[in-house]
Amino acid sequence: MRRWRKNLFRTAGGFMMVLPATVALAQAEYDGRFGIFNIQPPAPQVSVRTDSTHPEMTPMALATAQANFAYCIEQLWPQAARRGISRRTFDTQTRGLQPDMKIMELLDKQPEFTRPVWDYLDDLVNDSRINAGRAAIAQNRATFDAVERAYGVDRYTLTAIWGIESNFGPQGGDRPVVQSTATLACIGRRQNYFRDEFLTALEIIDRGDVPAELMKGSWAGAFGPTQFMPTAFKRYAVDFDGDGKKNVVQSIPDLLASTANNLKKTGWQSGASWGYEVVLPANFNYMLAGRSTKKPIHSWEALGVRRVGGQPFPRRDDVASLLLPAGAKGPAFLVINNFRVIMKYNPSESYALAIGHLADRIRGGGPIVQPWPRDEAPLSRSERIELQQRLAARGYVLGDADGHFGPKTRDAIRDLQARAGMVPDGFVSVKFIDWLRRTER
Ligand code: CA
Repeated sequence: MRRWRKNLFRTAGGFMMVLPATVALAQAEYDGRFGIFNIQPPAPQVSVRTDSTHPEMTPMALATAQANFAYCIEQLWPQAARRGISRRTFDTQTRGLQPDMKIMELLDKQPEFTRPVWDYLDDLVNDSRINAGRAAIAQNRATFDAVERAYGVDRYTLTAIWGIESNFGPQGGDRPVVQSTATLACIGRRQNYFRDEFLTALEIIDRGDVPAELMKGSWAGAFGPTQFMPTAFKRYAVDFDGDGKKNVVQSIPDLLASTANNLKKTGWQSGASWGYEVVLPANFNYMLAGRSTKKPIHSWEALGVRRVGGQPFPRRDDVASLLLPAGAKGPAFLVINNFRVIMKYNPSESYALAIGHLADRIRGGGPIVQPWPRDEAPLSRSERIELQQRLAARGYVLGDADGHFGPKTRDAIRDLQARAGMVPDGFVSVKFIDWLRRTER
């Protein structure tokens, strides 16, 4: 993550999740979706180096913003009043409030090294989390029964989100939401967005849904065990235990129902999977990979795509895309509607894959069958920038060489792979950049 970029803010709950101690900023994605603002969960970053290529603000601007902070907050009172927030709540929450300038540092971090998808999945989907998930289901069986009936979202997916966001802990972060969102409401590039989050956080406190002292979370303001942003809370949170409060921090029924409601309202299809691991035939046309190509599963079958293990697809008319998280040498997946819904929760293919796979494992499914190309070293940030510069030198029209791979970069890589007689899977490793260097004209 990153600096603020376009299409950043998912609006559903839970995005921007940071676990304490693992502010894994800019967990760069194998699939190149760098432009999206989300913070990947867990995964301690090794060898993180930061640079200041894209400083959020100059030191002078930061100092000025800090000095003006109290004034900036007070300027928000009329908007707060229009939302019905009491002056008492406003004062209690903002009196003496200082900006959390550490957030501004976090915003600027650009990790040099990113973790390959297989390491990411190893960290998030493992026996301890699977067992903890099964225990959570056993302990809350009646609640899950009721939530499934009410929202049609299965307990395994909900448990996977809960487990990955907070490891079934009480919080997904320990930064006060009011302070974080107030800081970002007055300093930095996304002030308008965060003013809404800040004021909404005050509304939640004013209504008494969640006790103010428990409104803690990621530095971006996501809170509770499944990491609701304040505005996502406002949109999706429900009072499922009937005590009059939507308390997604302390009430497991409210937490699970609110998370389920979020998925339901963003298009969850009851009774369907997220996707399937599949095997591709020899001579498969890899240009068909990627979420932009959608075909009914029976069309994929006609192309020779099969489920691992040979079981039939349960729903052959579902529209699916083919994902190759590690290129042609790694596992392949057909992903359907619910995968895209999980991506609305956190716009990352790796994240959605982790949630889907963990859900399957908690349900009793087996591990991913096909091996990952674990000997492939992913590109560092500087190598990504170098790759984009080398593509531009070869005549490909890209945007800025910023290390963030968008569709243009991916298309250029595939085109070059195809021209060079390689498998055009868009996956690049250190080997690919070595090849580019060697063949530079
Ligand atoms: Ca409640």
